[in-house]
Amino acid sequence: MIEKVRVKSVLNRHRKRDEWFLDDYSVNPYYGCSFGCVYCYVRGSRYGKGGRVQIKVNSPELLEKQLRRRAYREEYGVIAVGTSTEPYMSLEDEVRLTRKILGIIARYRFPVHILTKSTLVLRDADLIAQIDCRAVLPDDLEGRIDRGAFVTFSISVMDERMVRVVEPNAPLPEERLRAVTELAESEIFAGIAFIPVLPFISDSPEKLDWMIWKAKESGAKFCFAGALTLYGNNPDDCRQTYFRFIRKYHPDLLPEYLKMYGRSYQPSASYRKLLDRTAREMCMKHGIRYRIL
Ligand code: SF4
Repeated sequence: MIEKVRVKSVLNRHRKRDEWFLDDYSVNPYYGCSFGCVYCYVRGSRYGKGGRVQIKVNSPELLEKQLRRRAYREEYGVIAVGTSTEPYMSLEDEVRLTRKILGIIARYRFPVHILTKSTLVLRDADLIAQIDCRAVLPDDLEGRIDRGAFVTFSISVMDERMVRVVEPNAPLPEERLRAVTELAESEIFAGIAFIPVLPFISDSPEKLDWMIWKAKESGAKFCFAGALTLYGNNPDDCRQTYFRFIRKYHPDLLPEYLKMYGRSYQPSASYRKLLDRTAREMCMKHGIRYRIL
C-alpha cells in the first residue's frame, strides 16, 4: 500500500545558492527512497522515514500557491528537484507526482535542476524541454548561462557487481549514461555528478579518468565530483550502513576508512582538494565542462 502524507510546505528557499547545483529553491515530492544506496545520507535522517516511501499528496497544490506568489514578486530562481530523495523511483511511473510538479514549474517559468539516478526522467523530456526554453533566469545568472533546465545523473561507481551492492535498486550506471545520450539527442542539458566517489574504490585518477571519458562519450555536457560523507551512529545512518558494507565486501579497506573517517564525517581538506583538482584536470583532458558554471 502506498503511504500518503499531507505537508505544510513543499518549496524550500535556500539562504544562498548552491554553487555546484545552482539551486535557490528545492522541491521533494516524496519522503524516503526505494533505491537503498548504502551511502545515502538521507536514510537515517527525518526525511529518510526509516526506508519507507511516502507521497506528499498535496505537494502540487502547495507548489502552485507558493510559485504563484514567488512569480508575482518576480523571485525567480533555480528549483532543484530531488535534493533529499529520488524523484523518479519506480513508484513515480504510476503516481506521476514529479511530472505534476514539473508541469507547475513550467507554468510559472522557473528554471529547474533535476537530480536523479533513474531513466524514468526520460518520460518527462517534453516538459523539461519546455522549461528549458521558457524559464526566467534570476538576474545574476542572466548572461552566465543560457539554459533553463539541467538534468544531473549521479554515479558513484561503474563496476556492475559493486553497483548492485551499493545502489541495489537503482538503474545501472550504463543505463543512466544511455539516458544522458537520449537527453542530449533531445538537446536537453544533462551531465554527471560523480557524487559520492567511494574512497579506494572509485576515486583513483585512472578510475576518474575512465568515468569522465564515459560521461563525455555519452554526450554529457558537464561533470563534477564530490567526496563521500558519512553521518550518524544509529543503525540506519549512512555511517553505519556504509561501514557494514566495507566490513562485508572490503574488509581490507577498513583500516584506511577508519583513518579517513575516524574523527570526521568527511575526508581531509587535502583529499577533497586533490579529488576536485583531479576531476577538473580529467574534464579538461576530455573536453567537458567541469561544473555547470
Ligand atoms: S537514490 Fe539518492 S535518495 Fe535514493 S537512496 Fe540513493 S542516494 Fe538516497
